[in-house]
Amino acid sequence: MPFPFDNSYVRLPADFFSKTDATPVSAPQWIMLNRELAKDLRLDLALLDSSTGLAYLSGNQNPLGAEPLAMAYAGHQFGGFSPQLGDGRAILLGEVLDKNGRRYDIQLKGAGPTAYSRRGDGRSALGPVLREYLLSEAMTALGVPSTRALAAVWSGDQVRREAYEPGGVFTRVASSHMRVGTFQYFAAKQDHENIRLLADYAMDRHYPEARERQNAYLGLLDGVIRNQAQLIARWMQVGFIHGVLNTDNMSISGETIDYGPCAFLDDYDPAKKFSYIDQQGRYAYENQPAIAHWNLTRLAETLLPLLGDKEEDAIEAAKSALGRYSDIFQSALVAGFCAKVGIKDAEEADWLMVQSLLELMKFGRVDFTLTFRYLLQAASGDEARFTGLFKDLAAIGDWLERWRARLAKNEGGTDSGLALMRKVNPVFIPRNHRIEEVIQAGIKQDFEPFHRLLKILQNPFSEQCKLAEYENPPQPDEVVQATFCGT
Ligand code: AMP
Ligand code: MG
Repeated sequence: MPFPFDNSYVRLPADFFSKTDATPVSAPQWIMLNRELAKDLRLDLALLDSSTGLAYLSGNQNPLGAEPLAMAYAGHQFGGFSPQLGDGRAILLGEVLDKNGRRYDIQLKGAGPTAYSRRGDGRSALGPVLREYLLSEAMTALGVPSTRALAAVWSGDQVRREAYEPGGVFTRVASSHMRVGTFQYFAAKQDHENIRLLADYAMDRHYPEARERQNAYLGLLDGVIRNQAQLIARWMQVGFIHGVLNTDNMSISGETIDYGPCAFLDDYDPAKKFSYIDQQGRYAYENQPAIAHWNLTRLAETLLPLLGDKEEDAIEAAKSALGRYSDIFQSALVAGFCAKVGIKDAEEADWLMVQSLLELMKFGRVDFTLTFRYLLQAASGDEARFTGLFKDLAAIGDWLERWRARLAKNEGGTDSGLALMRKVNPVFIPRNHRIEEVIQAGIKQDFEPFHRLLKILQNPFSEQCKLAEYENPPQPDEVVQATFCGT
């Protein structure tokens, strides 16, 4: 078997999904196959890396053992509830167990319409395919939990968006595709039985330790809250803006999912948003922690019937679980940001020091990623590059002095702090103007920039002097002002 499928979601009741075959594309061609990931998933690489594999990953042929389906879910989109969304342009082929026995979904995105496509065409334009490939692999290399990219294919068909564009098919790998919106789908129908089945399934797949708890479902809720709080803290530390943090785009596993109009910060502006459709800035950088809590509250509501026999007990339990979010988030955020400036075992005063740096960065509109890179260089003597980023030179000079003194007090001294900084601060992030460059070339079927950028982003922490231009923020004429869903 090309894919050693071991499917479980399809064994859930029929209300959970709709069985759907992919619709073939005209003239598929490989853009990229992720051989490393294929190996980890124990796929038959020789077969996959052939015209048969191409037929599988473009939706033109069903691999043996696949049981293709589109998952049902609901969701709050920009605050408004839609009781029926579902995979409108995604088809789950099935699940495989990786070399460590962990279960993964293999899903085609852009493989044609499903029962949930509503007015959509079920297709993906090439741009979003390339963006998701690069962003999800970059996040993985940065150590941020994320879905993965197994393949990108040129479909040979045109899709109609604002104008006609070349189409693509993306193969996504996720530890599952259950979302907050999956729970909301059954809650909206007051279908308590299926909520219980979904909760049991999610628990077995992601939070088996919850079974040890007196109320296992509270353990499940606690687990999702913890993973999401830690995930959002990781986003903040790398300057990632998801862009459409609707409840249907928030995973139960705690992986970053559904890369749409997402983007990384260049200069540090906490109110930054890129997505064209997010006019109010609901999903701006600084709003992500609160929005995640809002989404988790929607999840908790769906679980209420399972959290206690009496309604008031269930509400109390949900409230106390949600109350733990901010502590988990805050301690992950503080530890993460303090590590970025080389401080271990952070204390309150350290966090205040980081916050004053962030203030100076905001005031000077300083590049988020370069700040921490140049700070590292400042420690070894090259201060001018770092201070040159800022507007308030006196203030940043004072800050540097305080920072040096603090760093020396680390256990292991200054050197241990610098080693920590090297480990957590990326040299390369998927900068928006670079992604844009890749997409523009890709549309003309030139994938050289895609491959070059992918390779760089797979090693984000190692300095490569020949690639210095990939470290840099955009020139004024290269700045990407807005990103579009493009679906
Ligand atoms: P998103 O927030 O982009 O993940 O998508 C929101 C909803 O719209 C999901 O139910 C998607 O499956 C659906 N959708 C997005 N693009 C398309 C498309 N081209 N065809 C059909 N459904 C789509
Ligand atoms: Mg989505």
